[in-house]
Amino acid sequence: MLLNEQFEELKHSGKLPTPSGVGLRILVQTRTEDCSLDEIARTLQADPALTGCILKLANSAISGGVSPATNVRDAGVRLGLRTVCNVALGFSLIATNRVGRCVAFDYDTYWSWSLANGVAAEILSRNLSLGSPGEAFTLGLLTRIGRLALASVHPAQYTSLLTRLAADRTLELSLLERETFCIQHREVGAAITEDWGLPPVFSEVMLHFGLRIPETLDWPESKTYLGLLATTLRLADVLVGGHDAAVLWPAAREAMVELGVAREDCQHIYDEVGERWKEWGQLLRVPADFSVRAKEVEARSSVAVELPLGPKPLKNSSLRILVVDDEPTSLRMVEALLTRAGHQVTTARHGQEALTKALQDPPQMVVTDWMMPGMDGVELCKRLRSTDAGRDLYILILTGQNEEERIVETLEAGADDHVGKPINTKLLLARIRPGLRVVQLQERLQGEMREKDEANARLAIEKRKFKVASMTDALTELPNRRYAMKRLEKEWATSQRANLPLSVILLDIDHFKLVNDTFGHDVGDQVLIATSKAISKVLRTSDTCTRMGGEEFLIICPGTPLEGAQNLAERIRAAVEANEVQVPSFTQRVVRVSLGVACNTSQGSASIDTLLKASDEAVYLAKRLGRNCVSLPPGVQSDRKSA
Ligand code: GH3
Ligand code: MG
Ligand code: MG
Repeated sequence: MLLNEQFEELKHSGKLPTPSGVGLRILVQTRTEDCSLDEIARTLQADPALTGCILKLANSAISGGVSPATNVRDAGVRLGLRTVCNVALGFSLIATNRVGRCVAFDYDTYWSWSLANGVAAEILSRNLSLGSPGEAFTLGLLTRIGRLALASVHPAQYTSLLTRLAADRTLELSLLERETFCIQHREVGAAITEDWGLPPVFSEVMLHFGLRIPETLDWPESKTYLGLLATTLRLADVLVGGHDAAVLWPAAREAMVELGVAREDCQHIYDEVGERWKEWGQLLRVPADFSVRAKEVEARSSVAVELPLGPKPLKNSSLRILVVDDEPTSLRMVEALLTRAGHQVTTARHGQEALTKALQDPPQMVVTDWMMPGMDGVELCKRLRSTDAGRDLYILILTGQNEEERIVETLEAGADDHVGKPINTKLLLARIRPGLRVVQLQERLQGEMREKDEANARLAIEKRKFKVASMTDALTELPNRRYAMKRLEKEWATSQRANLPLSVILLDIDHFKLVNDTFGHDVGDQVLIATSKAISKVLRTSDTCTRMGGEEFLIICPGTPLEGAQNLAERIRAAVEANEVQVPSFTQRVVRVSLGVACNTSQGSASIDTLLKASDEAVYLAKRLGRNCVSLPPGVQSDRKSA
């Protein structure tokens, strides 16, 4: 897999989702080996909202007799340091990635779904004693982080991809992603969680989430969590499903039963998940509308029919003005005037309301009265300017007669212009015009910047595609020799640094020339493809199979000692032999392979070159010993107990 390189490129864009300041600091702290709960607690306290979330989670499962945790330290003792950190990371991610530029990506629904998934994972994990509830929560929250990441790095391309997907239900997201970006959201998610230093189970789960659970996994917990998440995903679908909830319910219920929930408990669990989702939603300001309880969903499901899903309408692009005035007649007058002039007008009756509205749905221009009870126009101006959404607004202040001399104050607060009261309608409209020009200019600039960004993103994709192509074998789609050599260099350096073993297995198909001679070159090609698949099937995610050329494959096994690699080689040999090649004209049906195993800790393997040479000599020996077997380099002994 070429994941590493591709992920690095995404990372260089600087646009991957990242946690907030506190979340980020915690990540850095947990990377040092001896970080303590006290240190983490101190960091977390800098963020009261995050602290609240941690306490809530720690107290969510206590029953009578146990007093609730009241500070982060106690919560940490209860939940475990790891869980506290992971949860903090998840929540701080929501806080900083609530909105984004990918038009077709519904950020609200994304977080709403993810939160439902996390909550469901926590509750099911606790009820069925599957894994750790805290870890399950974070895993659930993050399972689709790769989608958010692709939407953030490539907003325009992801928009067109999602639009295509919405228009044609036969298309598949992952395939489209692979075609467009040369990488899929699952792989991105895995790389991100690995990059954040989360436990390796996280990346393994990200990689397989939503797919059939593979037989071989590096971590036994992954299987538990994947099973759990296969169920929570359906529960989350029902919770955010709206009108489709009833249609989706039976599948969710059956998944729960399959996971081990008693049939009579399913409704109860769904309601518990829904209630908790709603609570968390309020806390994190993520939409979580839990209004229909399980009983009703169940009742509706017996009469439900599937509803077609239409694509979401895109946002309107006309000019929006927010008018703020505490005086109703003046407010209505300006509203009517601007509406008649063709603008889309919303109103607010005081500063606080205006601020809330402006942040929720940013207008392009604000026309505000100065003198208002509570937050006045100047204060509103300052507050708006201190936010991301308000920085580029055009702000026009309406000033009373006695305030003319204090105009400087409004300009210093960040206002762009002012108009005196009582309002001269012609003058107001005239003052709006330069504002429009500024807004339009600004949007054009932003548009140009966006285009540049998009062009860069497209270029990055092209580069990535090219890079992938240059390191992929066209026939088997495995990484090629060039990749193998690069990867070996990396793994060699890691093994030296961490004092870990590194093994390689060189595999050569037996009498392959005969296959070509007997059945033709085309059949030979098909046999190569089938064999490469049979090999890949038995590998763990940490092992990489590459095609070195011809009928020769190299399997790189980081962290694996000689005996382990020998066992793996034997497994591969047996798997290839057991594999019936499904090519009609290939009546021989079966191919066999000879394998040579070498490890950097063995004598005579002091460099990459000598390691490869040793594996080559081992294959040669295997051929001489009669083929269809595994051999070590001449003179190398192993402690392996033969199975
Ligand atoms: P041994 O058991 O000693 O390895 O015998 P062998 O016949 O497998 O070894 P040899 O090196 O003599 O032959 C390898 C053959 O693989 C020769 C070459 O034509 C064939 N070959 C190499 N690359 C390809 C390919 O991409 N497609 C096909 N169909 N054949 C290939
Ligand atoms: Mg050969
Ligand atoms: Mg051969």
